[in-house]
Amino acid sequence: MATLIDGKTQARELRDAVAGEVQRLTHTQDVVPGLAVILVGEDPASQVYVRRKGQHAREVGMRSVEHTLSASTPQRELLALIAELNADPGVHGILVQLPLPTHIDPEAVIHAIDPAKDVDGFHPLNVGSLAAGGKGLAPCTPLGCVRLLASHLGELAGRHAVILGRSRIVGRPLASLLLREDCTVTVAHSRTVNLAKVCRQADILVAAVGQPGLVQGDWVKAGATVIDVGITRLGDGEERRLVGDVDAASVSRVAGALTPVPGGVGPMTIACLLHNTLIAACRQHGLPEPS
Ligand code: NDP
Repeated sequence: MATLIDGKTQARELRDAVAGEVQRLTHTQDVVPGLAVILVGEDPASQVYVRRKGQHAREVGMRSVEHTLSASTPQRELLALIAELNADPGVHGILVQLPLPTHIDPEAVIHAIDPAKDVDGFHPLNVGSLAAGGKGLAPCTPLGCVRLLASHLGELAGRHAVILGRSRIVGRPLASLLLREDCTVTVAHSRTVNLAKVCRQADILVAAVGQPGLVQGDWVKAGATVIDVGITRLGDGEERRLVGDVDAASVSRVAGALTPVPGGVGPMTIACLLHNTLIAACRQHGLPEPS
């Protein structure tokens, strides 16, 4: 049976490490890293995510600034708030929770965030920097995937990674990050021919498609490391549960290791957001960055 890669524990360890660095910065440099999170509207899932981000930021000793705007907020008001936060020296990271109400153009919002404070890593300057192998801020979910892989496998160089999904928040940036680790990278998507055969070549298989149970045991090479990014909510009330893109029952009989859903990639995403905020704060103050 596959080893379960415990994202909860690793996320806690990363948050503890961030907390230690925050304490050091606060006491030796008089710098308290600040994270601002903006929520527009009342989407219940987004409310939960935003609350959790603020809570974790405070727990590691950061300054947490939360702005909740009504769903009818005009775009210009949101852009004015972002401009204010861009100019605030006490705010080092800015995150606008997506999705946004339909009257707001997400591109305009992403472009408005100062790239130095773009802790989600979505601004075109950061996207370009990552694609060019540079040091821009990278998106949090792919960063979490790479941390889980490195902790389980150690050296990643030379391994063949197959990524299912080419979105700008997971698949594409993850491809850039794994290239940086000297993996051989294949990105597959809905138009890929013979997906199962492509997946069977993978030493590392990452599923980020949003299709529950898509990846079956016979898609996986014996001993491969499988990262399940997918999160789909199924059922109602007591029956409510989260499922991933991987059929854990069949895959765990073949794979060497697998991340669970929940408790795998999910917790790492927020921990990496805190780490990005710490890096952003260090860069803005010209201080050495933590590892
Ligand atoms: P998107 O919908 O933006 O992208 C999905 C990708 O999967 C697309 O590239 C699409 O291909 C591909 N795809 C869809 N169906 C298939 C299929 N049957 N076969 C092969 N490829 C397919 O999703 P996201 O990247 O935003 O999210 C993916 C999943 O990860 C979701 O379940 C989401 O909830 C989860 N997620 C989890 C996070 C976490 O913290 N754990 C964070 C972010 C996302 P094409 O481009 O051709 O359309």
